[in-house]
Amino acid sequence: MTGKVYLVGAGPGDPRLITVYGMECIKEADVIAYDRLVNKELLKYAKETVELVYCGKEPGRHELIQDEINELLVREATRGKMVVRLKGGDPFVFGRGAEEAAVLREANIPYEVVPGITAGIAAAAYAGIPVTHREYATSFAIVSGHGRAEKGQDFLHWEALAKGIDTLAFYMSVGNIRHIANQLIAHGRDKNTSVAIIERGTTENQRTITTKLADIADRIEQEQVVNPALIVVGNVVDVREKIAWFEQMEESV
Ligand code: SAH
Repeated sequence: MTGKVYLVGAGPGDPRLITVYGMECIKEADVIAYDRLVNKELLKYAKETVELVYCGKEPGRHELIQDEINELLVREATRGKMVVRLKGGDPFVFGRGAEEAAVLREANIPYEVVPGITAGIAAAAYAGIPVTHREYATSFAIVSGHGRAEKGQDFLHWEALAKGIDTLAFYMSVGNIRHIANQLIAHGRDKNTSVAIIERGTTENQRTITTKLADIADRIEQEQVVNPALIVVGNVVDVREKIAWFEQMEESV
């Protein structure tokens, strides 16, 4: 009998932020193929007999690794295994989940998608930043910031992002931040717009730095920000001053 594959979102970092259904999948899995950003604490809930496969992506080996992952999912499910493909955040937000689903459909393997809390919302919330707010923002976009202009990969509609959307959450963007800030300002975003950089959001190592759009690239260099990090652009960042809670909680423990 054919097994089944569950494309599961592990949540943004704090292991308690996985869904109940995601946790049930982990507990029942025969095979768990997990990504680099998944909190390893979650793997402790798996069966003793589980087979764990690390799918961390090495720079430059992207395609090969993805093919190997696809093959693994099909192979193990064909053997009748209950396979969990565990991804950071949500599997359909910059997670290649849809590509894996398409491969499974092609191979006639049954699958389910278990959503997870994405970093753009969760890391912001742990930093005391609401992505929408009645007074500050009524629209919110999740944006991939890694497209390099010089390599012809910058497909973003900068004018729309700069002028049309209140809160922007940039994923995969630390190395490209100077270009991002320049483009937003050039297309009409106020250079004094507040910006937050949230490093390792929702983990005990979370660090939040706030600054202005015009200064963000210099600040990221000075502070030596490491990945994973999220960049939130918009007036909602100012709300942090009033409702930040995570750092206060750590202090009071
Ligand atoms: N599927 C994931 C995103 C994968 S892309 C999700 O839904 O969250 C990887 C990018 O996500 C990183 O470059 C970073 O920008 C962001 N990210 C993931 N986890 C994060 C965390 N704990 N803190 C800050 N940013 C995070």
